[in-house]
Amino acid sequence: MSARPQPASAVRPYDVERVRRDFPILATRVNGHPLTYLDSAASSQRPRQVLRAIEDYETHSHANVHRGVHTLSQAATGAFEGARERARRFINAASVREVIFVRGTTEGINLVAQSYARPRYRTGDEILISALEHHANIVPWQLVCEQTRCTLKVAPINTRGELDYEAFRRLLSPRTRLVAVAHISNALGTILPVAELIRDAHAQGAVVLIDGAQAAPHTRVDVQALGADFYTFSAHKMYGPTGIGVLYAREALLESMPPWQGGGDMIRTVSFERTTYNELPYRFEAGTPNISGAIGLAAAMDYLESLSLEAVAAHEARLLELATAQVGALPDIELIGTAAHKAAVLSFTMRGVHAHDLGTILDAEGVAVRTGHHCAMPVMTFFNVPATARASFGCYNTEEDVARLVAALQRARGLFG
Ligand code: PLP
Repeated sequence: MSARPQPASAVRPYDVERVRRDFPILATRVNGHPLTYLDSAASSQRPRQVLRAIEDYETHSHANVHRGVHTLSQAATGAFEGARERARRFINAASVREVIFVRGTTEGINLVAQSYARPRYRTGDEILISALEHHANIVPWQLVCEQTRCTLKVAPINTRGELDYEAFRRLLSPRTRLVAVAHISNALGTILPVAELIRDAHAQGAVVLIDGAQAAPHTRVDVQALGADFYTFSAHKMYGPTGIGVLYAREALLESMPPWQGGGDMIRTVSFERTTYNELPYRFEAGTPNISGAIGLAAAMDYLESLSLEAVAAHEARLLELATAQVGALPDIELIGTAAHKAAVLSFTMRGVHAHDLGTILDAEGVAVRTGHHCAMPVMTFFNVPATARASFGCYNTEEDVARLVAALQRARGLFG
């Protein structure tokens, strides 16, 4: 995390009721109950400020970007490139040349896998991930291993769902070319020691990709302070729209990478004999981008910073503590993932009840939780469960939401006897 000064709002008390009024969808009733939305780790809701920024753009400024001399195209280009600068500031990248708009975390990781790793690696090279990764940070590396015959290594976790750091360090070697880990686990909520991990990986000459999908909404990310080589996240988990995210990559690395996808906007000149490529970051953004998405993402960043990321994180930490104590005290509940450092996620099982049945019963009470493997099947295998129920918290959740979750779980227990 950065040592940048905290905004003045960080010292104001956190007014969750005021925050909730920014999210129209929270007034929805589900199955006759007020909505208790506890699925922000899958996708968060959007505040009016984001909805309005998108509508304003679509209503007044839409045209294609980078191509037109006409007024609307210039307005759209200005807004789109303004969003890039907003994203640069949000993660403290050194330059907008290092900020690539992608569809989301999944595309960011695939871009690095195919454009950075695939042309470089061969037999004997190793890619090191951890055992708590989302499928988006497993499968792209498996594809690279199939394509190049390099080897995938997996650092284990312990029964609390923490990275076994000693084992991780033992797996690091001069053969390790790339380390790819989550900043925060989506299935368990574990916060990984990414700054230390990046230092240790760099000491062995490896580059590091951080999957920041779950971190960007909860933690101030400073890519320069972290020393990350690649850092990627999705807007829709941080109060922005779907279909847009950011891949941060150090400029020197991007300069050394071939384009991933070809098409409009990523070229400088094209002839049938030879094509030359555009400068950064456009070389990695083939085709018409998600313009309104980028504008919505920038508005989401403005929104989060207006609340203060530190204040949001502190609020969510209080809710997590409360929910951990209360849900953990219920009969027949087992908490899955009890790391010392966690953020905003409570995964659990109820003895004798499949997670999907539990999710359906909770939904009947208006309580939205995620059930299933959370795109982290190896984590489920490790804990020897087919699935978990997962409650995840965002800036708009309240103690009342925790109470409703607990009451609904008690009713579910009663139903299953
Ligand atoms: N990585 C983590 C840790 C996630 O939680 C998710 C989404 O749940 C992803 C990657 C994939 O994100 P997206 O589906 O937005 O590309």
